[in-house]
Amino acid sequence: MATTLVSSNSWTRTFFPKNKTKILIHRYNSNSSSNSNSPLSTTTTFMNHDAVVSLQEWQGWGTTSPVPAMVTQIAEDLKLLEKDFDSQMKFGRAGGKLQGNFGQQEDKKHRATYKALADSEEKLKFYSARQIACRVLGSKGYLCQKCWLAMEDCMCSQITSSLLFPGIKFWLYMHPKDFLRQNNTGKILWQVFGVDCATLCLYGIPEHEQIMWNSFKLAGRSNVWCLYPNKNAVLESVENAFGQEPVANNEVSSEKLKEDTTQHFILIDGTWSNSAAMFRRLQDQAKSIWGDEDLSCISLNPGTSAMHKLRPQPSWDRTCTAAAAAGLLLELHLLPRFSSAELDKQAETVEHALTVLLEALTKRRLRMGRSITRKRLQVSKFS
Ligand SMILES: [Zn+2]
Repeated sequence: MATTLVSSNSWTRTFFPKNKTKILIHRYNSNSSSNSNSPLSTTTTFMNHDAVVSLQEWQGWGTTSPVPAMVTQIAEDLKLLEKDFDSQMKFGRAGGKLQGNFGQQEDKKHRATYKALADSEEKLKFYSARQIACRVLGSKGYLCQKCWLAMEDCMCSQITSSLLFPGIKFWLYMHPKDFLRQNNTGKILWQVFGVDCATLCLYGIPEHEQIMWNSFKLAGRSNVWCLYPNKNAVLESVENAFGQEPVANNEVSSEKLKEDTTQHFILIDGTWSNSAAMFRRLQDQAKSIWGDEDLSCISLNPGTSAMHKLRPQPSWDRTCTAAAAAGLLLELHLLPRFSSAELDKQAETVEHALTVLLEALTKRRLRMGRSITRKRLQVSKFS
């Protein structure tokens, strides 16, 4: 009895602390301190066996990064909570929200932890990692890892992949609430082009943000663009930004050319209300690396997609993330610099995948007896 009491108290005090490994070990040992033989190795064995999110599983969702440390920590803490509360965690089907008694108790705990964190940076990292951990745990065995649709709706066999012109790279800067969402469209880009050409960067996950910024540092500020129509930022049209560039010199080797001139495009993949904070964070990070100058922002010309007959399906939202990427490719295609890159075909592959996604979502809604007009593709903020 006494052991349980001590254990609960120490748990409350040390829930999601900074020094996680030590505390996890402490927590586990204190729980099992009634056993005379509960050395450190017991803990290690326990944690290994229960590697709640394996590297393979993590990367299966569409990233090449290691499992973020805080995601691992929170997923493991949740597993430990199951023992503590003596009840299994249950997730709602949408959004990885914890349900029932476990959900209520965990809610109190994580709110207390969040409140106790010192600054907004720590709070953001904790918030993001917890969202991601819950989504990963809640989607296991339910969503197809590749297309993020329920297994029975998997659309993977209908998606055509394509090479992306090597002079272009997309970064999907995604809000944790949009991670593993069925109607998210950013996922389409790496399904089509692969994770090296369209790379996921989760907002507030240090491991992801670091990979992205390391890449930007190498590329240099003039080769990094944010597709974001912000009133407070200086906006350039695609034509202004890329129309004047000299046509590539044929004598330069393609590898060298790729290194020097790859254009990195950040697509903010979140709702309108979340994207302002995401954009601010990008600007702050840009300033910390490049000094006072802002990250360059480009806006799409709403006429171009129409001109190229982006299929006029009424339920097809042109402002979603994947459609914005397709629109960008189409605008670049019109410029001499990219005229031989076949960007129009690449845009078409994305459009096709979007159509497939929309059909899969519609079929699902019909099957579940819901209105097909109520919920469309997640609207983003590109036009
Ligand atoms: Zn699938």
